[in-house]
Amino acid sequence: MRCGLLGRKLSHSYSPQIHSYLSDYSYVLYEKEPEQVGAFLQSREFDALNVTIPYKKDVIPYCHALSPAAQKLGAVNTIVRRQDGTLIGHNTDHFGFLSTVEKTKISVSGKKVLVLGSGGASVTAVAVLRELGADVVTISRSGENNYDNLSNHSDARLIVNATPVGMYPNNGASPVSLTLFPQLEGVIDMIYNPARTALLQEAASRGIVAENGLWMLVAQAKESAEWFLGQERSNDLIPYIYQKLSRHMQNIILIGMPGCGKSTIAQALSRRLGRQLIDADSYLVEKVGRTIPDIFAKDGEPTFRQYETDVLEDLGKKSGIVLATGGGCVTRPENYHLLHQNGMIVWLQRPIEALPTDGRPLSQQNNLQDMYQRRQPLYQAFCDCAVLNNGTPDIVANEIINLLQLED
Ligand code: NAP
Repeated sequence: MRCGLLGRKLSHSYSPQIHSYLSDYSYVLYEKEPEQVGAFLQSREFDALNVTIPYKKDVIPYCHALSPAAQKLGAVNTIVRRQDGTLIGHNTDHFGFLSTVEKTKISVSGKKVLVLGSGGASVTAVAVLRELGADVVTISRSGENNYDNLSNHSDARLIVNATPVGMYPNNGASPVSLTLFPQLEGVIDMIYNPARTALLQEAASRGIVAENGLWMLVAQAKESAEWFLGQERSNDLIPYIYQKLSRHMQNIILIGMPGCGKSTIAQALSRRLGRQLIDADSYLVEKVGRTIPDIFAKDGEPTFRQYETDVLEDLGKKSGIVLATGGGCVTRPENYHLLHQNGMIVWLQRPIEALPTDGRPLSQQNNLQDMYQRRQPLYQAFCDCAVLNNGTPDIVANEIINLLQLED
């Protein structure tokens, strides 16, 4: 079977990877300009398609029939060529979003839910939530309910972000502040890059459900595969693919005391996993054009720390890299959000007596034991897991890979 994805800009799409887990049909990216879409659909050089931005409505006139979900949402993200050559259009975003709401385990019936944005993703979310019995309010910049009168909805129990605010490369932006909503049980952000938007990090810091858009992406693909193949696929594939992709997309970030072996273990991880390796200190030296001892000597530590935060702002946005950080990056709380937005943070531990001090300005100035006492709670707070660096680089790298379940 020849399947694929029709859209305008597809270079960052995860769909080929997701569909490779769903079946063995070929899955091609069809990047088309608007004026090419009609001819492409009429060419019939495909058996089945997914459709993405900006063509989910444009393809409708080329479909000879629409499924009830596609009719209801006025958008098609799945097209199947039938035996007689005609096209049927369906919408699997509906299933994808429904499955996401179910994953949160929040019962929305009778509760107020705010859906931010009024585009295609919003229409899907509103339809699903209304079917589930929620009292849905769409928040639109130009609507009656907008960002200036959010306080009218302080009783909201769930917020769904269906805007691109906070999406790569504009990481860190957030459409609303959650302080306005004391009864909130959860937030669903349809964005999946970064894995944890500023909005989701705020939700997590309040201890409420924080779900990104990756589950929806995988679940809609699973239902698309069923349409492509004309047969059911197991629902168990959704968590399986979600876990795989989620780990693949996130950075592996090493933190720990100066000299604990972050660069060496990062190299071993990069080799083993075929991931790009970036050393934050080397990146900083290249970007600023000065050595770290020179920055410390001439400008002092606060200037260095600001350079470091600027660097982590760039690097934290990346996906799927191995990142070795400088030992003191945990001293600034804002660095946590930059690293955590797309990363699994590993604290690499090594006995203090084994830590080298050559070429490390702070290790030479400060008693390492004092530094460790100060930083230990910070490493603890930043990390998702800790690993003792007491074997060969390959053994320690393997331990990290196992701990983070990066391989089958
Ligand atoms: P869209 O059609 O462009 O709509 C986005 C809506 O967001 C706009 O209609 C607008 O609503 C609002 N908006 C746009 N820019 C904004 C800004 N700077 N500040 C505040 N609001 C803004 O996009 P979409 O297709 O609905 O997608 C929305 C988001 O969902 C995107 O991030 C997309 O990647 C994501 N998505 C994820 C999945 C998934 O499977 N996870 C599926 C579909 C979409 P108002 O003008 O009414 O404010």
